[in-house]
Amino acid sequence: MIEVADGVWIRRHAELDLTLGLIVGDTGCLVVDTGIDEAFGQAWANAIREITDLPWTVVLTHGHFDHAFGTAAFGGCFASEGCREALVETAHQQAAEWSAQFPGVATAPLVLPLPAPFSVDLGGREVLLSHPGPGHTGHDLVVQVPDVKVVFAGDLVEQGAPPQFGDSYPVAWPMALEKILDAGPGLVVPGHGDPVTPDFVERQRTEITEIVTLCERLNRGEIDLEGAVSRSPYPRKTLEEALARTIRRRPLRRPDGR
Ligand SMILES: [Zn+2]
Repeated sequence: MIEVADGVWIRRHAELDLTLGLIVGDTGCLVVDTGIDEAFGQAWANAIREITDLPWTVVLTHGHFDHAFGTAAFGGCFASEGCREALVETAHQQAAEWSAQFPGVATAPLVLPLPAPFSVDLGGREVLLSHPGPGHTGHDLVVQVPDVKVVFAGDLVEQGAPPQFGDSYPVAWPMALEKILDAGPGLVVPGHGDPVTPDFVERQRTEITEIVTLCERLNRGEIDLEGAVSRSPYPRKTLEEALARTIRRRPLRRPDGR
């Protein structure tokens, strides 16, 4: 556990370089994400209880297993609209995909989130919850702690590895990052990796914009895949994931019908 600002803690993990968050007020605390499986969630809950006995409110930044499958250890949680549906639709597939690496994923009880309030009063400290528009998923939730200018960005921001585009909305993603920056944070906590400063988020916004431009040029047939890979700020796999999430335009039919 690392205290990154007054009463704002993160827990860093070797597994997936995951970063979970805790914000402590005078009368309550807010837990950001629940981890990989029930045992992971329980260890996380125990670590929280070594810091505070205050009642918790639990929020999920999004419905990916590494952020959401530990919720049973906490009882319940809140998330953005769309997270519940995403979990219902994808939990089974996520479990199948990841249980070889993390066996607990297969047996993690599915706890569905309730719609998140706009703010949570922790006693002497208000925390703001918002959905900045589609990005890493269609339902990312951002947690803002205005009194210390800290923002928990979930996987909208990723440090130490390229952003994950598998369920993303690449074209909208830079705008979601713009909204995070508009809040004027001093420190941004990513879903994976170490906390970063706003200039890192700005750089990631530029890189994602570059990826979108490359995907659009590819889809228009202006460049080929190898040309795009050579210009890409991220590895081939990341570019291909982003490409799969952008609309492939049909080539225009020529007037002579060919
Ligand atoms: Zn994710």
